[in-house]
Amino acid sequence: MDPRRHVPRTDTVLADPRLAAAERRLGRTVVKEAVAEAQRRVRQGGLAPAEVADAAVAALPRYAAGLRPVLNLTGVLVHTNLGRAPLSPAAVEAVTAAAGCTDVEFDLVAGGRARRGRGALEALARAVPAAEGVHVVNNNAAALVLAATALAAGREIVVSRGELVEIGDGFRIPDLLVSTGARLREVGTTNRTSYADYRDAVGPETGFVLKIHTSNYRIEGFTGSVEVSALTGLGVPVVADIGSGLLSREPLLPDEPDAADALRDGADLVTASGDKLLGGPQAGLLLGRRDLVERCRRHPLARALRVDKLTLAALEATLRGPETPVHRALHADPAVLRERAEALAVRLAAAGTDARAVPSEATVGGGGAPGVTLPSAAVSLPARLAVPLRTGEPPVVGRIEGGRLLLDLRAAPPEADDEVARAVLRAAAPAGENGSADDGMAGSGGGGANGSGAGRGGRR
Ligand SMILES: *Cc1c(COP(=O)(O)O)cnc(C)c1O
Repeated sequence: MDPRRHVPRTDTVLADPRLAAAERRLGRTVVKEAVAEAQRRVRQGGLAPAEVADAAVAALPRYAAGLRPVLNLTGVLVHTNLGRAPLSPAAVEAVTAAAGCTDVEFDLVAGGRARRGRGALEALARAVPAAEGVHVVNNNAAALVLAATALAAGREIVVSRGELVEIGDGFRIPDLLVSTGARLREVGTTNRTSYADYRDAVGPETGFVLKIHTSNYRIEGFTGSVEVSALTGLGVPVVADIGSGLLSREPLLPDEPDAADALRDGADLVTASGDKLLGGPQAGLLLGRRDLVERCRRHPLARALRVDKLTLAALEATLRGPETPVHRALHADPAVLRERAEALAVRLAAAGTDARAVPSEATVGGGGAPGVTLPSAAVSLPARLAVPLRTGEPPVVGRIEGGRLLLDLRAAPPEADDEVARAVLRAAAPAGENGSADDGMAGSGGGGANGSGAGRGGRR
């Protein structure tokens, strides 16, 4: 008999309460696709007609967007491929509150227009009292483009050859700057640049001198560079790209520049990222002399680089709110990390998994502090678990080292340990034992698996 006669009608299947609820949560298209796929399987004889609704429910994506929550056990605190800084619960709450209509640019008392994002700007100004003016754009690259356009288009930016940084994914700060119509005046050499190099290059054509923090590499050996404080007497603005977004000194990272120090040292304008060590949303911060910030803020390009209400909400909550997850990870006690690793290893070994606690070294990532390692602890597992863990639900991303999969605990909060343990047990279970609907579903969406743990790069 023709099985097509027995394929349940789409309308009938969609009336299933579970699918009706999914339609409200995920949208009609997604649910209809899941139903159509189940109907196809019936036509091909691979599914009983009565199972169409169940199969469609099982195949539904868990989230309305393709971006899934991932457990970062790479040991890279700020991992660009994994979305950089995780937001604090306070920032997440602020984003949710601002998601609908909100007074981002409206004065509820006066009933008229107000300065856009004033709460975030006030919080930023308060966090960096040395800054006369503050402004927020889409990211640090945008902050640099805006500064170059507003302050140096058609003129020269003087920069050391030792600081011509490639940010990541093939993007380079010098190309970015030149794209604005400014000319680069490179001074010094790769390893050494002196005050005289800057002094001889500065002239009537100079828009500003730019100091770029070499946040993803180090130059060692016979080296020399000039501090911001030494460049302030040249009669032109000094712009400092500090990268990571530390607003004040971080004792654990003594070589990482911060905004307060850079301004105190005499920088006229500082640019930084919001989603590296600051621990907030993707954003670019401009801090410094009021007149320079105003020129950036009033430039027509500023409108194209402005941030949305969600960013402003998350940034304000990050600046005012409780400790960020990045700060917590940076300051995690190595002894506690070791205890966590040992507890996990014991639990996993008791279930028959080849797991042991090992010392590990975590890094800040491309977000800053190149060459700095942070003592950490990991659970060492057979490398073959890397793929099932990455493609499981939730995906767990570790790193391969010495032929083993290391799950480094520093970047993950202790609250995640139980979820990690359960994920490992599912991944390690012999085929057939992890056949729950959940696990079957999770396996299908694992695009992007690249054969080993995520690299240590944390590229910016
Ligand atoms: C990360 C970084 C950038 C780029 O910042 P985005 O916020 O990713 O645009 C620029 N300069 C330095 C020094 C950086 O570390």
